[in-house]
Amino acid sequence: MGGWQLIGNSRAVNALASAVSSGSPARSYIFAGPARVGKAAAALRLAQALNCAADDPPCLSCETCRRIGEAKFADLQTVTVEATTDGPAHKAISVEQMRDVEATVALAPYEGRKRVVIIDPAEEMSAGAQNALLKTLEEPPPHVVFILVSADADRLLETVRSRCRRVEFGLVAAAEIEAGLIERGTDAEQASVLSRLAAGRPGWALEAAVTPALLARRDDALDAARSLAGMDLADRIDAAEKLSDAFKRDRVAVDETLAQWLSWWRDIVLTQSGAGDAIANLDRREQIAADAERLDRARVTAFLEALRETRQHLRANVQSRIALDALMLRVPAKRQEGAPTTNT
Ligand SMILES: [Zn+2]
Repeated sequence: MGGWQLIGNSRAVNALASAVSSGSPARSYIFAGPARVGKAAAALRLAQALNCAADDPPCLSCETCRRIGEAKFADLQTVTVEATTDGPAHKAISVEQMRDVEATVALAPYEGRKRVVIIDPAEEMSAGAQNALLKTLEEPPPHVVFILVSADADRLLETVRSRCRRVEFGLVAAAEIEAGLIERGTDAEQASVLSRLAAGRPGWALEAAVTPALLARRDDALDAARSLAGMDLADRIDAAEKLSDAFKRDRVAVDETLAQWLSWWRDIVLTQSGAGDAIANLDRREQIAADAERLDRARVTAFLEALRETRQHLRANVQSRIALDALMLRVPAKRQEGAPTTNT
């Protein structure tokens, strides 16, 4: 059983598959779109399709496909941010890392047909790294394909973007995620729940299906999102400090928390707008309805916008503490029982 086997984004996948079968893949790609929708998985599939010797690649069962799937293939190079344990957790992809790439891509493929370089998250390349990459993109060796994976592709230099074929990935319908989970062995009831909670992100659903801790983390994040509205300012500033410390250790986890907060507050706005059927967190419908009743709609809408901005700012390396303090100042307060129905 071969093929690309990704959940959703069939238009992007079909475009890639036909570029491979017609023998005209681009030298460099940007896979753009939200987190956890399948960009990184598609990058591995493209690497497999370019190197698999089957009639209709990728077969996903040959030695080549298997080793690329496990990222253990000599001609597959993945460039990513390096984790740090203290100081600013964020370390950009450096010029030195790109110099390594430059040296490797000059060599002919060792065991496959194409060298594939995946840069993920590409927007984390420093300006210097992007300029170093640019030199290679201007005269790419014919046996090399670059794939820049990015949830924030507009942060890449225009000169880099213009050298790449852009492939857009989007959120995936819950029904498609549900079917994909069932195909992969998740039982129907769990698939139904996870596909709704995934909010369009099959990568999250696939991980949650095998990692119960992910669901527990989601529950914690939603509980925290809900409790914000009942906190006084001192507690909220305290929460900002904790989140900022966590951000220094694990920015991906904090981004995921903020994504869950967004989904919670978006559900409240939806409910306040009479679109309660469209909420993502169906298992929390009653809590959401109760909070929608108690919170001022204009303030909730403003807070939702603040959450979006904060995620952008944190990705752009604004000081986390300042960004999170500012966010906490905009938390909508619950109306007191019997108090007038407008917030000041
Ligand atoms: Zn194969």
